[in-house]
Amino acid sequence: FYNLPRKFKITITGCRNWCTYPEINDVGLTAIRRGAETGFSLRIGGGLSTDPHLAVRLNAFVQQHQVVPVLKGVAEIFRESEVLRENRERARLKFLFLKHGWTADTFQSELETRIGFHLDHAVPETPPDDVYRDHVGVHRQKQPGLFYVGAAVLRGRISAQQMRTAAELAAQFADNQVRTTNMQNLLIVNVPEQNVHALANGLATAGLPVAGSPFWRGAIACSGSEFCKLAITETKSFSRWVVEELEERLPEFDQDLKLHVTGCPNSCGQHWIADIGLEGKKIKSEGRMQDAYYFCLGGAVGLHQGISRPIGYRCLASEVPDAVERLLRHYLDQRAPGENLRKFFARHSDVQLREYLAGKFVPVAERDPASGRVPHLVEG
Ligand code: SF4
Repeated sequence: FYNLPRKFKITITGCRNWCTYPEINDVGLTAIRRGAETGFSLRIGGGLSTDPHLAVRLNAFVQQHQVVPVLKGVAEIFRESEVLRENRERARLKFLFLKHGWTADTFQSELETRIGFHLDHAVPETPPDDVYRDHVGVHRQKQPGLFYVGAAVLRGRISAQQMRTAAELAAQFADNQVRTTNMQNLLIVNVPEQNVHALANGLATAGLPVAGSPFWRGAIACSGSEFCKLAITETKSFSRWVVEELEERLPEFDQDLKLHVTGCPNSCGQHWIADIGLEGKKIKSEGRMQDAYYFCLGGAVGLHQGISRPIGYRCLASEVPDAVERLLRHYLDQRAPGENLRKFFARHSDVQLREYLAGKFVPVAERDPASGRVPHLVEG
């Protein structure tokens, strides 16, 4: 294929955690069993950026030999959708659903016409209901006696020395393989049981712990102004500072948390699917423009999927730890027995959550979406 309207992301995963995020790709194939047979569920049209859309699931069980014709059919629909060539900002597959009235049924009908056969009906699936899809920690592999070890890399920033150390540890205690993950972490696989402890200790000593606080583990940051010319804010040092502050202020916080920081509305930091999503802004303060963040709350993928709610609150970057601390203290003080953060956000209005963040009543702050076109190759 060439001359597609814009980029086209396909993910295929056999992972039970769906760690490749099928919900936010143009095409997501997730392995599923039908009796003894392994095939795939099919999702279409996911994407974030300034117009987030979670992929829709088709009523299809895709057999393994059908994967290539199905992907080819989807790519053909994308290529031949002239409406996606009218406006480059709206040239992703998701806009068929967002702007042009397509549904899962109409897409499937068009797809089956193109591929020339009907897909089998979908089989029931249970999306993962966990918050993290990072594989952090020590986990048993299918192969007897072997484990994989996931190290949490704080906001995806790792030094050359840490990489060398990880490689040396993989050589010493496993079989030389180091893998990176979507959640900006490292995996060392095929670790014999007797080596797990020493490997985990070695990683922790190098600043790559296999268990971290919810803030450490759940922090994601896009490139930000350090390396991205489109950035409005600096993100990497900021997110490290926020994590350190929250670890110190809320050591008792006991919930999984995804805290995503994105330096502009393009959402490379995926703030739309975070419990707490921070979108970079500028605010004039003390006579100069300063980094600031707009809050989106309650995003999730998996069993409880949903796009985070723009909550109408923004503050200076320097005030973010205060705001998050206020919010999470309200949660800790007021949660019902067994109520997780997502349920807590869901049962509170934007006004209430805004007050928790601000510590007082404040009027709605505009989100100020980016003006102009989304530049090539950056849309999340
Ligand atoms: S374009 Fe992407 S990487 Fe750059 S600041 Fe915006 S969200 Fe971050």
